[in-house]
Amino acid sequence: MLKRVIFTAFIFFCALLQSNAGQSPPYSIKIANPKDIHPGGFVAVIINNSSNDPLQNYSYVFNNYNAKFFFYKNNWHAIIPISFYALPGKYQLVVNDNNQQLTSLEFIIKQKKRSVYHLGRPSPLPNSIIQRIEKEKKYLQKIYEDTEHPAYFKGFTLPLKSTIVTSEYGVKRVRPNRYYYHAGTDFKAKPGEKNYSTAEGIVAYTGRHFLEGNIVIINHGSGIYSCYIHLSKIKTKPGKKVKKGELIAYSGQTGAAARGPHLHFMIKIYNTPVDPIAFIKYINNL
Ligand SMILES: [Zn+2]
Repeated sequence: MLKRVIFTAFIFFCALLQSNAGQSPPYSIKIANPKDIHPGGFVAVIINNSSNDPLQNYSYVFNNYNAKFFFYKNNWHAIIPISFYALPGKYQLVVNDNNQQLTSLEFIIKQKKRSVYHLGRPSPLPNSIIQRIEKEKKYLQKIYEDTEHPAYFKGFTLPLKSTIVTSEYGVKRVRPNRYYYHAGTDFKAKPGEKNYSTAEGIVAYTGRHFLEGNIVIINHGSGIYSCYIHLSKIKTKPGKKVKKGELIAYSGQTGAAARGPHLHFMIKIYNTPVDPIAFIKYINNL
């Protein structure tokens, strides 16, 4: 008799499992910007989980890079940066929950026309300076590699009161022997103009470098950093918690700021630059 009850219970359980399998899952996953993905841009993924479990452990794998989603305004988000040097075409990213594949998403990277700016041959630098630049570059890479913090931010703002763009993000700067893309946005800024933190975060680095001059880097969590370059004076220090809109520095022309005083402002995600204005607009519209 007992065996029969157990057997019936087992059949009932199996039927229950099957009926659950037929229902739609308690989440929806979508790419929020499928028509706007290009080299130097980003892919935005939203997971809407109706169970709203903040302990969910969503992550993605793209280009052999594994990173976590962050929880923001009741949904899970991933903003996946695309390198300036990515080739246009069809790509796939895998979304995992607790390291188990949930789904894979397909997207297309489209070519984007960038303005081209021709520059002359740079004057040669002594070896000691070339070595210093290399060393400083490596040092900054290490700072951006710290991606273990949760998202601190509650929204973003532009870093200056008046924001006139003097050189936009992604301009292709061509020299006789090489080219590169402008990895930040240049804002017109008088020397001594106040610079504000773009969002809540922790100051990850302040220093003076050959190319960047005085520099401040803020960690906003989830691999997202903001970076302020060519400053005249730094008004914060590493380890300090900052609020959105908090004074952190004054603009200037330190480092290689050939185009006069300005603020070179960058947002980096997992060590890859994204368009700061497009990124801020996207986050603030969520
Ligand atoms: Zn710049």
